[in-house]
Amino acid sequence: MSARPAAVLFDLFDTLVDFERDRLPLVTVAGKDVRTSSGAAHAVIRQAYPAISFEAFYEAFVESLREVNERREREGIEVTAAERFARCFARLGLPDTDATASVRGAALEAHMGSLATATACPPERREVVRTLGGRYRLGLVSNFDHGATARALLTRHGFDGAFEVTLISADVGFRKPYPEIFHLACRALRIAPAAGLFVGDSLSIDVAGARGVGMPCVWVNREGATLGRADPQPDHTIQHLPDLLALV
Ligand SMILES: [Mg+2]
Repeated sequence: MSARPAAVLFDLFDTLVDFERDRLPLVTVAGKDVRTSSGAAHAVIRQAYPAISFEAFYEAFVESLREVNERREREGIEVTAAERFARCFARLGLPDTDATASVRGAALEAHMGSLATATACPPERREVVRTLGGRYRLGLVSNFDHGATARALLTRHGFDGAFEVTLISADVGFRKPYPEIFHLACRALRIAPAAGLFVGDSLSIDVAGARGVGMPCVWVNREGATLGRADPQPDHTIQHLPDLLALV
């Protein structure tokens, strides 16, 4: 690496903490097996509204995600999980009252709890962050629709206090790869984008985003994917996070 970075910034999911969909509960919907966290949310809703079947809830759950994903794409913003659940409840015909809001909050917590159980972090990644923390200022920039859950996952997987700056898209309203969240992170760290180093697993989100603001970046290519000419080009590619230690 040519110049020593003033700060190293990490992506969260599938860079530090893996999301393993195979660990979500398996449910059968309309004859198809799907891995989903929606069973936990439906269990909460069913207690308050026994008439809402799992199938009806699942459809609203999936459609509300499709709806917010369209908005995320179109507007380059983050839409929170709370808003997604509000849309889901509206689709189910539930009025927006204090009573439904409390069920909605509990269902959202159940959904997040279920997602959190499907995460894992190999201990060597904690070691990498700990080692680099002794040498560099560290930041974290994550696309996730529920800030409290992202922060709880950092604690759960041993990254408590590791980052000087932690930005979750749900809290700031912007998502990677759009430049706003990178600029916010740089401002919080008081560095110029070119002085940072971004480390992430996604070419279209992390590498494209970092390049877009002129921040050097490392692509964690765990699957050994082939980098195409049309892909956003990382400055460095590593296969496993510990390889970062040889680079910086
Ligand atoms: Mg990621």
